[in-house]
Amino acid sequence: MAFESLTDKLQNVFKNLRKKGRLTEADVKAALKEVKMALLEADVSFKVVKQFMKAVQERAIGQDVMSGLNPGQMVIKIVNEELVKLMGSETTEIALKSGNEVTVLMMVGLQGAGKTTTTAKLAGKLKSKGKKPLLAACDVYRPAAIKQLQVNGEKQGVDVFSMGDKNSPVDIAKAAYEHAKNEKYNVLILDTAGRLHIDEDMMEELEKIKEAITVDQTLLVVDAMTGQDAVNVAETFGEKVGIDGVILTKMDGDTRGGAALSIKAISGKPILYVGMGEKLSDLEQFYPERMASRILG
Ligand code: GDP
Repeated sequence: MAFESLTDKLQNVFKNLRKKGRLTEADVKAALKEVKMALLEADVSFKVVKQFMKAVQERAIGQDVMSGLNPGQMVIKIVNEELVKLMGSETTEIALKSGNEVTVLMMVGLQGAGKTTTTAKLAGKLKSKGKKPLLAACDVYRPAAIKQLQVNGEKQGVDVFSMGDKNSPVDIAKAAYEHAKNEKYNVLILDTAGRLHIDEDMMEELEKIKEAITVDQTLLVVDAMTGQDAVNVAETFGEKVGIDGVILTKMDGDTRGGAALSIKAISGKPILYVGMGEKLSDLEQFYPERMASRILG
């Protein structure tokens, strides 16, 4: 993750502000206009930029800030705080049931977003927290998906439940749930099928799984490098299937940052984790404050 361009631009704006000492309303307005341009160029969604600028402007323009000891610094602080708010303020944990009760997590997303990889990554995280996860291969359309999950599960030392590709995802999910209960697993992670684009069949299938078993949380996996598309995907999945949180993959290759900054504001759902590489250990919890600090440089 290297949002150089956004960071450079913001640093430039702030350097000029700091130099000035006293600030007029016009100075602040001019600086904020540059912040706005930088965010738009980083592919932050227009609606989000508008809301963000309104919030910053309301706080940054006024006697309190401008007559303060260090107005430039105050403006920077406000931008920082509003960036943190935009990304959800708090770090959100995946809520897990206690003891032996099975928490069911359903992974959803478009093909190629990194769903299968992330399923195995997440299983590793939960295992290290003392949980006993079971992965279920419900993607019966992409021939390599089952094998890929098995290979990655093995690397993580996590069991994988599979019934091949001749059963429906709903039947596999049901059988996996029974298996998880009987064999005392306490987290079941369903790796569902993606499609190249959002389509009705995919949504219907996910709904059917939700009708057949109690899914505690639906986690959307999206590719950060697709920018605004990722945000649109989150919005659509949220409306059609309902999602509880987002995992943003390929942040290691994202140079702009638009998806990370827009998803929470648009979908209303927090980013839980970010994928930082292809290795199974490359999954990090998402901290809005740290992300804002990285962006501001
Ligand atoms: P799926 O179709 O959604 O199940 O996607 P896969 O899990 O098969 O992942 C698609 C490609 O993205 C694979 O080559 C993964 O190694 C790669 N990938 C997944 N997550 C990340 C990530 O966080 N960073 C990078 N650089 N690559 C990733």
